[in-house]
Amino acid sequence: MEKIVALCKRRGFIFQSSEIYGGLNGAWDYGPLGVELKRNLKDYWWKSMTQLRDDIVGFDGSILMNAAVWKASGHVDTFSDPLVECMLTKKRYRADQIEPQSGTVYYFSGISVPASVSDPSTTNMPPLGGADIFKFSAEPKKIEIPFAVLVPKGKPDASAHKIARQFYVSRGYVESQMSLDLEKSEPVENSTAFNPENGAQLSEPRVFNLMLKTYIGPVQDESAVTYLRPETAQAMFVQFKNVLDVSQKKLPFGIAQIGKAFRNEINPRNFTFRSREFEQMELEFFVKPGTGPEWLNTWLEERLAWYEAIGIPRAKIHVLTVPDKDRAFYSQGTYDLEYEFPFGIQELEGIAHRGNYDLKQHQEASGKPLEYFDEESKTKYLAEVVEPSAGVDRTVLALLCEGYAEETVKDEESGKEETRVVLRFSPRMAPIKASVFPLLKNKPELVAIAKDIYKTLQPLLKVTYADTAAIGRRYRRADEIGTPFGITVDFETLEGAKEASTSATGTPIAVGQKDTVTLRHRDSMKQERIAIADIPAYLLSKIS
Ligand code: ATP
Repeated sequence: MEKIVALCKRRGFIFQSSEIYGGLNGAWDYGPLGVELKRNLKDYWWKSMTQLRDDIVGFDGSILMNAAVWKASGHVDTFSDPLVECMLTKKRYRADQIEPQSGTVYYFSGISVPASVSDPSTTNMPPLGGADIFKFSAEPKKIEIPFAVLVPKGKPDASAHKIARQFYVSRGYVESQMSLDLEKSEPVENSTAFNPENGAQLSEPRVFNLMLKTYIGPVQDESAVTYLRPETAQAMFVQFKNVLDVSQKKLPFGIAQIGKAFRNEINPRNFTFRSREFEQMELEFFVKPGTGPEWLNTWLEERLAWYEAIGIPRAKIHVLTVPDKDRAFYSQGTYDLEYEFPFGIQELEGIAHRGNYDLKQHQEASGKPLEYFDEESKTKYLAEVVEPSAGVDRTVLALLCEGYAEETVKDEESGKEETRVVLRFSPRMAPIKASVFPLLKNKPELVAIAKDIYKTLQPLLKVTYADTAAIGRRYRRADEIGTPFGITVDFETLEGAKEASTSATGTPIAVGQKDTVTLRHRDSMKQERIAIADIPAYLLSKIS
């Protein structure tokens, strides 16, 4: 993972947001290559949903919505995670993500300090230090602030005392004045009440709403409160009737949207995987009552095939049937599609059968009918919804992880062994589809043809032109950013070989190569000749 993060920065895929100010936790910027990758991903989702199908229309809702939406949807009351806080470092964690630990727990009832020491929490005076204390000291006094530390099996017991001392120091007591009051120690199995990073006790879980609150207009009172949307879905439910009326679709039909969502995640981590600002690609697929379960399975298959088409093989995606106890309360069935990230198997997309929960809630809360009139049966009813909801950033990260490879290869020029870093993006996703190279920079005939090819390709797809450094180096740089094709204008392009020969890599070259170029394939590093006139059609066939 570290190598991928470093590559992302080095080559301009992803940067830390506000980096020169020390960053902002949970926010990321996509650089020149990252934005192309992300755009290719979103474009392909959009095309798959709204262009290649007749039963889905596109939509782009606002990020800010009437606060009543979030009340009706249940987000104000229930969109929350249980939060715990490390009593030593004050770092916050999601209670349900704490790794269980076993070991010995040391319970301290508090500390004993010289009687003259006042409670740091009730006085602005700094605690007395050094020899001063002896001038006033009487009997030591007990400060009852309970604290506990878990020492994992195999770790020295002394670490419990060290952590406890740090805790009381953090409460304002002076280390040289205190003695710890150990009450007891006992073994514990699989406890989630302690911070796995330092063993310190965690606070009791409290519920923490994940929506980012904001105020609309100049007066910052409760009536001005709304939220940055935590998912894109709600706008599609709220506008269901408008979209239905204008698109003249019959059930089953879907509304698709790509856009930003915001969640005040307790603990953003794993690079872009858990961010506070991210993008979603969501489809709300409205179906006849009773047909939800069937459509849920249909969409599962559709989505798996889609991931395959962007270069994430079926074998790398784990389908989790979310157990009843873990499902969102509105869901009647959910599949999580999980990818094998280097940091664990984690969710890429959730596909949920939401029943008619959302339309019903908004119909009731707004007082506006959101029913569907079925021409065939001449009845009105609320549609059920199946929602495949995918994360753009998580899928970009999966593409980077899936594509990243290091190989030992022979240098194409010198024949020496070296390590090659390559991003094996599918041509469809690759930020740059091809790079055009003149073999030598100082041969105007080669440069002219290469520039000509570049200009011809430029309006059709994302290509680059490079003429500096040896050709082997230029190939390596293109490999590292995942460019699938290299197009090199060489001397054969000008004249064609006078007689049959073989190239440096052993490929036979037939007589007469005029107006052909070397086409180099990133993954196999194979080189073949292709007629200049055939290049556009060839490349387009690989990315459509
Ligand atoms: P998690 O359990 O990982 O928090 P979730 O089940 O809450 O995710 P959903 O509400 O189903 O996620 O959101 C749909 C998709 O949006 C997720 O599958 C994921 O790809 C993306 N997503 C959700 N939260 C984040 C986040 N904090 N950062 C990046 N992507 C996210």
